[in-house]
Amino acid sequence: MMMIFGGLTGACWASFLLCQAWRSTQNGPQPARSYCPACRGPIAGYDNIPVLSFLILCGRCRQCRAAIDPLGWYGEIAGLVGGSLVIRQPPSVIAFAVLLSILAASDLYRYSFTDGWFWIGAAVCLACAWQTLHWLPAALIFAAGILPVYYRKLGDGDWEVITLAALLFGLTPVLLWLLVASGLGIVLILLRRGNQHQPLPFLPVLFISLLVLISR
Ligand SMILES: [Zn+2]
Repeated sequence: MMMIFGGLTGACWASFLLCQAWRSTQNGPQPARSYCPACRGPIAGYDNIPVLSFLILCGRCRQCRAAIDPLGWYGEIAGLVGGSLVIRQPPSVIAFAVLLSILAASDLYRYSFTDGWFWIGAAVCLACAWQTLHWLPAALIFAAGILPVYYRKLGDGDWEVITLAALLFGLTPVLLWLLVASGLGIVLILLRRGNQHQPLPFLPVLFISLLVLISR
């Protein structure tokens, strides 16, 4: 029952986050209600059900039949799976997963995130785990990231998130997490060979990798 509740909450949460992140990339005034990017017609509530509506509509707008970007649907599935897995975790893991979901949704569409969200989320995570913080692993990860960030091989946002994870969970889980994320990143880069002009946003990869580790 907990898993179903977590999954439904996660899917709705992901749908909301992805919609907000996508909207933030659009210029000019936008309708207050959900709308189709192609015909700008409003999307009815029954066509806006996370995960299901995309399937029922076969990935097309009901009015103009334009194809819907599947990226949002993938994100909703990640939210569904993520919510059902995360709900049974300790508070620090839940707080970190929620923070990472916000940053990953933003990274997916904007290749960046608002620093304020990171610091608010980091404060909540630290409050959940303040008795068991891993200072030395965090210092090591922080130091290891200086050169890659300087030479732009690693985004500074990714660096902040990974350092926070080391502070919360210690060195071994974080190294394992990075190993899974690197493998997944390589697979995704190979899969999108036709679309190499866009860099791969790393925070969504880190979010999926977190779910892989939690599901063990
Ligand atoms: Zn349309």
